[in-house]
Amino acid sequence: MIRKYTFRDFEKMANKVFSRRYSSAGCLPARYLEEQFWQEIGCGKTESVEYACDIEGSAFSCSPSDQLGKSKWNLKRLSSLPKSILRLLGAAIPGVTDPMLYIGMLFSLFAWHVEDHYLYSINYHHCGASKTWYGIPGNAAPDFEKVVREHVYDRGILSSEGDDAAFDVLLGKTTMFPPNILLEHNVPVYKAVQKPGEFIITFPRAYHSGFSHGFNCGEAVNFAIGDWFPLGAVASQRYALLKRIPLLPHEELLCKEAMLLSRRLFSPNSEVLLPTEDLSSQCCIKVSFVILMRFQHRACWLIMNSGARACSYSSKAVTLSCSICLRDCYVSYIKCDCNMNPVCLRHETELRSCHCGRKRIIFLREGFLELEAVARKFEQEEGIVEEVQKQVFHSDDQCLKNLFPSTRDDGYIPYCKLNLYLSLENVEQRMEISEDLDFVSQRECIKYDAEEAACSAISISSFSLGQNDSNSQFSC
Ligand SMILES: [Zn+2]
Ligand SMILES: [Zn+2]
Repeated sequence: MIRKYTFRDFEKMANKVFSRRYSSAGCLPARYLEEQFWQEIGCGKTESVEYACDIEGSAFSCSPSDQLGKSKWNLKRLSSLPKSILRLLGAAIPGVTDPMLYIGMLFSLFAWHVEDHYLYSINYHHCGASKTWYGIPGNAAPDFEKVVREHVYDRGILSSEGDDAAFDVLLGKTTMFPPNILLEHNVPVYKAVQKPGEFIITFPRAYHSGFSHGFNCGEAVNFAIGDWFPLGAVASQRYALLKRIPLLPHEELLCKEAMLLSRRLFSPNSEVLLPTEDLSSQCCIKVSFVILMRFQHRACWLIMNSGARACSYSSKAVTLSCSICLRDCYVSYIKCDCNMNPVCLRHETELRSCHCGRKRIIFLREGFLELEAVARKFEQEEGIVEEVQKQVFHSDDQCLKNLFPSTRDDGYIPYCKLNLYLSLENVEQRMEISEDLDFVSQRECIKYDAEEAACSAISISSFSLGQNDSNSQFSC
């Protein structure tokens, strides 16, 4: 049931509920309220609890005299900070890039969940009663989901079988159960009591839940820094399996961040490096980007072997979504006679059942060679290829399994020469899709050559970003 309150009316109602119950207006010990909360959840008695959540807006002050309001800790400013990955998004996403307010009362709860795309979250407690938080380390997320699957849900709730079923239900954010169940199955659980003036940060893929001790007001927003990319990739893979529409264009963000990083690292005056730039974040960007570009090359090679041709499309074109898995296709996509909607390069199986062969066309973003050259340059750095191999080895993503040819000897050599060339006339003959031809021109057709790519790797410092040329999509 939805009721409308003003902030003050909600406060009055919340305080009345609290004092009626505990004959007290003050704070009660966190341990006591925790026991009471789980007792209540156990009896299923939570109807009297109202929780005004997900209110768009912020309670940070804009006043110049407010130290917190003008600092970087003002959550309204977070997404536009220089190290924030989300600054590269074209448009704001409420609750993700812009903060939301959460107004609670006694035993208002937030159910077990991870953030969308496994983003970080940061939560500020503006005023009112404390909140108890429970958190699971990100690396224990698979164990957490296993316990939920096997000991919390019954088959009826799980819409699909397998590892992703519990995740799908957890995304609904309606599952609350006591942390004891997790501890009994050796899943580590940490607890924190958040008071006014305190921040809580949740890390990528770290499940969390909690409840309020009385009337309060908090504010939260998501964020990402470089070290989020590997986990963001895992989240994208899961969204694709579950056919969930992604909120973020993961591939686009990765490419843009990698190109900006390469500019900072390889430009002659590298004082553009951020003073506190963190090496592990940089390493994550490099490794994730190398995996992406190695995958793109490998997939192109396979699809070209089945007779497909390639051409490029304008770097200014909007990023399309794959019509099969809904991922963003920033670097490339495929169209053929039987599938006129864009398909990403991850659908080898689906493509095998279509007989379009030479009528299949791979569209590569203009600047593909530069992207690849940057990936090759990153690979030259010590430890990067080893880390790429490690991540690919441990990945559940079947598309990445054949990235290193040792797993299957089909003659593939990474970054080998591919003949990606098709004239405009051929595109027209092969595909009667005029809307695509608006942004495919003769000039943009690529003659792909590994030597050329290597050259662009050497002269990488001379290619400009963010200026008035075709690379302007990289400006931020
Ligand atoms: Zn796809
Ligand atoms: Zn086809």
